[in-house]
Amino acid sequence: MCCCSGTKTKETSQMVKDVVCGMQIDSNEAAGKSEYQGQTYYFCAPGCKRKFDANPQQFVK
Ligand SMILES: [Zn+2]
Repeated sequence: MCCCSGTKTKETSQMVKDVVCGMQIDSNEAAGKSEYQGQTYYFCAPGCKRKFDANPQQFVK
């Protein structure tokens, strides 16, 4: 096994879309997250999470 490649990839960091406002955010820097129908959604701000939690179907297609 070789361990000299891929060291710049951080463990769980990934770009995800905040479905409420459409922003691309880093999952490590998300202000909040919610699970809905087995999927995890990340949000840039607590306000986005609140909107999603109040009415998830509106944002999930
Ligand atoms: Zn947002």
